[in-house]
Amino acid sequence: MSDTATTETADLLTGGASGADWLARYNTSLMGVFGTPQRVLVRGSGCHVWDADGREYLDLLGGIAVNALGHAHPFVTSVVTSQLETLGHISNFFTSPTQVALAEKLLGLAEAPAGSRVFFTNSGAEALEAAVKLARRNSTPGRQRILALDGAFHGRTMGALALTSKKAYREPFEPLPGGVEHIPFDDIEALRSAMDSSVAALVIEPIQGEAGVRPLSPDYLQAARELTREHGALLILDEVQSGVARTGRWFAHQWVDGVLPDAMTLAKGLGGGFPIGALVTFGEDVSSLIGAGQHGTTFGGNPVATAAGLATLHVLETTGALQNASDVGGVLTTGLAATEGVTAVRGQGMLIGFDVDGGYAPAAVQAALTAGFIINATGPSTIRLAPPLILTPDQARTFLDALPAILTTAREATP
Ligand SMILES: *Cc1c(COP(=O)(O)O)cnc(C)c1O
Repeated sequence: MSDTATTETADLLTGGASGADWLARYNTSLMGVFGTPQRVLVRGSGCHVWDADGREYLDLLGGIAVNALGHAHPFVTSVVTSQLETLGHISNFFTSPTQVALAEKLLGLAEAPAGSRVFFTNSGAEALEAAVKLARRNSTPGRQRILALDGAFHGRTMGALALTSKKAYREPFEPLPGGVEHIPFDDIEALRSAMDSSVAALVIEPIQGEAGVRPLSPDYLQAARELTREHGALLILDEVQSGVARTGRWFAHQWVDGVLPDAMTLAKGLGGGFPIGALVTFGEDVSSLIGAGQHGTTFGGNPVATAAGLATLHVLETTGALQNASDVGGVLTTGLAATEGVTAVRGQGMLIGFDVDGGYAPAAVQAALTAGFIINATGPSTIRLAPPLILTPDQARTFLDALPAILTTAREATP
C-alpha cells in the first residue's frame, strides 16, 4: 500500500481519538441497548487485546466464546483476505466451493448420517429462527408445542426470544410467537410429564451459557433423546455457545453417549470471529421438513463467512486445540476451585462459570479490567470465562495468580 493509502486506512479504522472521546461519541450515536461499553478496543493479537489508550488485556471472554483462535489469527486472516480479494458475495442464487466444503466438514464433525444437511446463517439467533421454523414443520395434526428450559438463552429475535426464558428480555416485546413452554431445568420427571404427541420439538442447550454455565446432566440429555424419539418430537440442541471445540469436543453433546440430535444450531466460534451461524439437520426425514422456497437469507453462507469457518475448523483440527481446551480448561477449573472466595465452579473445557459469594461479580469484572483481564459476569454472583481455545497454561496461571486480589478489590468495592 502507498503511504497515503496506509494513512487513509488508519484514519478510517481508528481515527486517533482517546477512549473517553470515542465513548462520549458512542453515547450519542449508538442505540442504548448495551449501556456504555467498558473500553474502546483497537487491536488484538492471539489472546490479547489493546484499548484506545494503549492498555493491554488478556482476553478470557473471547468475544463471548467467539474468538476460538484468539485475535487476528494469521491463517484465518489470510484465508478471509484471500477469499474477499477473490469473491466476496454472490447471493444464494449461486454457491461457492467454500460453502459446500464447510457444510460437508460440519456434517463430518457432527457424525451426521446420510441425508443430513446444513443451512447457513449470519448469527446464532438466525440459526434458532431456522430451528423454530423446522419445529413448526414437524406438524402432524395437533403437534404445536415447543418445549424449552427455564434459564434458557436462545437469542433476541422474536422466534429465538420466544424460546428464551428471562422475563426481562421477553415481556417488553410480547406477544411473542406462540406455543413455547418453559419447563424446569435438568428435571427428567418434568420433561416426561410435559412430553406427549402434541410436542413438536424440545430445544435445549447442553450447557446453558448465559445462565452462568449450567451443564445439563448426561442422564437428562439421554432421557431427552429417548423421550423425544418416543413421542415423535424433534430434539434440537442449541450449541451456539457450547459447540465448535469449546468444551474439548467438537460439540458438547458428543461428551454423552447416544445423544445424536435431530437438529443443532451453531454460531459463535464457527467463524473464528467472523459472523456465521448454521442449522444442521440430521437425517433425510428431518432435513426434508423444510422444502424449496420455505426459508432463505441474503448473506447467509456467503463465500467470505464460509471461508472463515473452513479456516477456523482447519486450524482447530490441525493444532490440537480441542485437547488444549480440555487441558487449559482443567488448569483454570482446578485453580478456581482452590481460590478463596470462589464457592462453585462449573463447565467443561474452555466454557467455565464460577460463583463468588455476596453479589460482587460485576465489581470483579471492573477490578479485572483494571488489572488487565477481560472476564464477564452472567449474574450478580457468577463469572463466566470463555477464552480463546489457544490460551496457554501460563496465561491461565497469570489470571489465577491475579484473581485473589481482584476478588478482594471487588468485595471491598461492593456495599
Ligand atoms: C449467543 C447465543 C445465541 C444467540 O446468538 P447471537 O449470535 O447473539 O444471535 C443463541 N443461543 C445460545 C446458546 C447462545 O449462547
